[in-house]
Amino acid sequence: MKKFLLCILLIVTGILSATVIIEYDGDIEPEKINVRKFGDVEYFNVYELNKVFRAIITPDLLDSRLRVNMYEKEIVFLLESSYVTAGREVFNMTFPVILNESKYYIPVNFLQEILPLIYPDQIIYMIDKIQAPIPVDNRIKTIVIDPGHGGKDPGAIGYSQKSYEKDITLAIAQKLRDTIEKNMQIKVYLTRESDRFVSLRERTEFANEVKADLFVSIHINAHNNKDVSGVEVYFLSTARTDDARATEALENAVVYHYEGGTEALAKYNDLDFILTDMAQNEYLQESHDLSVNLQNNLVEVTESNNRGVKQADFYVLRGAFMPAVLIESGFISNKNEEKKLVKPRYQEEIANALFQGIDNFVRRIELMH
Ligand SMILES: [Zn+2]
Repeated sequence: MKKFLLCILLIVTGILSATVIIEYDGDIEPEKINVRKFGDVEYFNVYELNKVFRAIITPDLLDSRLRVNMYEKEIVFLLESSYVTAGREVFNMTFPVILNESKYYIPVNFLQEILPLIYPDQIIYMIDKIQAPIPVDNRIKTIVIDPGHGGKDPGAIGYSQKSYEKDITLAIAQKLRDTIEKNMQIKVYLTRESDRFVSLRERTEFANEVKADLFVSIHINAHNNKDVSGVEVYFLSTARTDDARATEALENAVVYHYEGGTEALAKYNDLDFILTDMAQNEYLQESHDLSVNLQNNLVEVTESNNRGVKQADFYVLRGAFMPAVLIESGFISNKNEEKKLVKPRYQEEIANALFQGIDNFVRRIELMH
């Protein structure tokens, strides 16, 4: 009987005290990862990685994948598989990732065996203890909102009311700024506060200067076909569809018309292409995630036609060293949409939708216990 009790006691304390200590390189308090057993195997909740390494965790349910971003690398877990990838490398944890009560659990030997391989110069494993660099704080602290066009460049002009894109984008941007600053601990800057001309390059330069964590460019679309309507969100990359190319040409035309014709165009094309391409490549996944959040909320709030999340090569997004997106909040060329777009009430609805999208995106980076 005594032996039996002792056994129970050992098992209970074994489960309760199971932790892996994380010690950091700098002078900050150690953290711990809590461990629990499923069968004979020790596991930890994936969100512990957010707690101790400030990892950004993005479950991709459709793909049965779990993306974990930490120390500037992306680690991808496959649900119910023991394989995990980081960059081009594939590792085998022996035991699979499991889903229990809608929480993801990773086998503990990932910490012991795989992490030191993914970060060979940074993470060291010793018995029940990990030595790691001080985690990078990924929280969003600064956002730059870019009201499209302005000054001598009116942007698209409505067919029926002759309203200007530049006025609507500024109104939406100001409302969005107010809502974010009222509800979140985030500093917001606009690339222009008034009806003035700002070159495309100046817009991202400004965002880099204030070390923005997100760049959100707001526009209104136009189409030769007056029946076309709806909302869409873009992130930077080579345009994929004819429609995306048409919008891209429309927004990029500002360089030709207002920044000095072909000479100015050449300047943008000479822009160290590989460098800017890489700058955005690094943020591709985040720009995509932000776009999806924004688009879902835009469609829900405006009840507008869902034209989807798209990729295109916008000059204004090039050269931004942060996740960057461009929103087309409706068609000024469509009579019904123009009628709505000029109303402050509708502009407010769009701003609220964009706020919701940004809020969802920001929350996923913060602690998620
Ligand atoms: Zn525009």
